[in-house]
Amino acid sequence: MPLLILSGKEVAAKVLADVKANVAVLREKTGAQPTLAVILVGEDPASQVYIRNKKRTADEVGISTRDFLFPQGCPQGELLETIAGINRDRSVHGILLQLPLPKGMDEDQAVAAILPEKDVDGLHPVNLGNLLGGKPGAIPCTPAGCIEILDHYGIPIEGAEAVVVGRSRLVGKPLAQLLLARNATVTMCHTRTRDLAAHCRRADILCVAAGKPGVITGDMVREGVVVIDVGVNRLPTGRLAGDVQFDSVSVKARAITPVPGGVGPMTIAMLMRNTHRAAQRQLLNPLPPQSEVDGRRA
Ligand code: NAP
Repeated sequence: MPLLILSGKEVAAKVLADVKANVAVLREKTGAQPTLAVILVGEDPASQVYIRNKKRTADEVGISTRDFLFPQGCPQGELLETIAGINRDRSVHGILLQLPLPKGMDEDQAVAAILPEKDVDGLHPVNLGNLLGGKPGAIPCTPAGCIEILDHYGIPIEGAEAVVVGRSRLVGKPLAQLLLARNATVTMCHTRTRDLAAHCRRADILCVAAGKPGVITGDMVREGVVVIDVGVNRLPTGRLAGDVQFDSVSVKARAITPVPGGVGPMTIAMLMRNTHRAAQRQLLNPLPPQSEVDGRRA
């Protein structure tokens, strides 16, 4: 069977076209434009690039953005006050807090300060809890993008042996939960896993989010595996590489995501989908009175 390249670039384009159409319908129906607050603290060049890309994509699909830029060293209290203000602002439907925050700031506290309804990254404890409980809520963008790729290409998840390498709160844990919710049998691996290769060799679907270039090699996978490579690593040569050694793994795989052009483009696309959905929920079912919102944040 020829190797199937799982093009996140193509799937993302389709998701974004759907979001754009849905945003237009929502504007027509409500007269309001979905709006995303973009919060950046500090001057990290990588974060600035991510923010620029997210804002450009938002613009392309008809979502407006508002910038909230803070200098490095801004007090945590100032950030929390700004988040509280945006929570109260009915004309803003989503809040994107670009992570990581500069050293010394409390990320967990800042994420928890975001109203769950406006948490388009799906990282608020309420949304993570909803994910665990199988209830509706925003789903973290990168794992949601991995599932979208599998669905787009008709890869069956139910009953599959799914192995997830990496257990971060951003990727590995929510991805394992999403696979489990779709009735895969899920194994999670991490740095203390005793025999990583033995687990990976059992996988029908192997998802790798370790942040280590080439950690998965051809001898660690079985014939016919489907590989989702979440890793994005900048090599000393300047080239981008995934966590999976593409050349040796792709000769055995049935399907694989490339890096770049695989999971990467999906993250922004799913962020746009989450923002449209948040706007839709808030515009069609307005948030409770302000006093109640403030009470829930206290
Ligand atoms: P992270 O927070 O550093 O977590 C990495 C996880 O991988 C940890 O759980 C770690 O285990 C595990 N791990 C590391 N080396 C391992 C090894 N040799 N064997 C087994 N497990 C290993 O990273 P992350 O935020 O999840 O990101 C992972 C990768 O995905 C990075 O390359 C990142 O750039 C990329 N990423 C891409 C996107 C995208 O849009 N494409 C989005 C987010 C992240 P321990 O828990 O035991 O330390």
